[in-house]
Amino acid sequence: MDVLIINQDEVAELLPMGECIDVMAEALKTLGRGDGIVPLRPVMWLPEKVGALGMMPGYLGDTQSMGVKVVAVFPGNHGTEYDSHIGTVMLFETEHGQLLALIDASEITAIRTPATSGVATRLLAREGASDLAILGSGVQARTHLEAMLSERAEIKRVRAWSHTPANCQQFAERESKKWGITIEAMDSAQAAVEGADIICTTTSAREPILMGDWIAPGTHINAVGSSVSFTRELDTNAVVKSRLFVDRRESTINEAGDFLFPKKEGAITDDHIVAELGEILLGEATARQSDDEITLFKSLGISVEDVASARHIYDKAVERGKGTRVYLSGPR
Ligand code: NDP
Repeated sequence: MDVLIINQDEVAELLPMGECIDVMAEALKTLGRGDGIVPLRPVMWLPEKVGALGMMPGYLGDTQSMGVKVVAVFPGNHGTEYDSHIGTVMLFETEHGQLLALIDASEITAIRTPATSGVATRLLAREGASDLAILGSGVQARTHLEAMLSERAEIKRVRAWSHTPANCQQFAERESKKWGITIEAMDSAQAAVEGADIICTTTSAREPILMGDWIAPGTHINAVGSSVSFTRELDTNAVVKSRLFVDRRESTINEAGDFLFPKKEGAITDDHIVAELGEILLGEATARQSDDEITLFKSLGISVEDVASARHIYDKAVERGKGTRVYLSGPR
């Protein structure tokens, strides 16, 4: 049996952002219907937590696919030639359990994460939302900008803030040129988010960088950067004053620092989670109820996003003759 190896450039070609947003909506719906499996993810931390190896298995019944993303997360790679997320998604079919493909996980993660925020923004941001704030200037900041512009053509103003001012400046200049818009590099996170309609937090900060006091009524927030229990990007007030939507409840109450810190402080309970995105997509939960409320999508990143992306990439690669076939084992 041949396995198809699909590299980073091929993933970028085969998984355009607009397409991936629709693929994520389908995957979240499938999960919402109960036709997906997402076990909590084992994470192996290295000493001093300098890096980790995350293992994310998942199953999607509608495409008869299962897979696992194995991803090394090394925040210290930021600013070097290495991505902070490196690994592979292994895609299997579910009739005989054959391994179909090994696909670059850096690029899948870079695209499927903002694509899921794109789904959340589609469902939750106010109509006419035109003022965007991006906190961070790394991979997720770059791809979230793309997803927000793809999802909301009416965006007219973009402000950015990042921990290292030079990186923010560089991000603003590079992305302004790429998209033909003016991105304002701001001196503080507060200046970047004041009056914004949509805020994306995409940093590896361990302590809050977004305070509830700064958030205007009617804002939608995609909180992406913290995907472990012991870091957070939002302060307690930001979470308390928002209607909270998630990719998956069980994952959130076990893995999301942005949720767990306010819960530990007694400021919220599990009932603070209004719905999973899949429940809104299936018409089982109400999204935004008024122009004044603040909506918050806490993104943890779940395995069905990787499996759905991998299946989509694999099918297109087969159709277009992309990827490299390698004999591994089994029937030839
Ligand atoms: P990068 O390494 O490319 O970028 C890291 C970003 O974090 C930079 O903008 C950097 O700012 C900022 N940063 C680092 N330290 C701090 C700090 N102490 N305070 C504020 N900002 C800080 O990483 P990615 O873009 O790939 O990932 C960003 C975050 O998103 C990570 O925490 C990652 O684990 C998470 N993530 C979440 C996913 C999900 O599905 N929810 C999926 C993938 C990633 P500067 O350069 O200015 O110093």
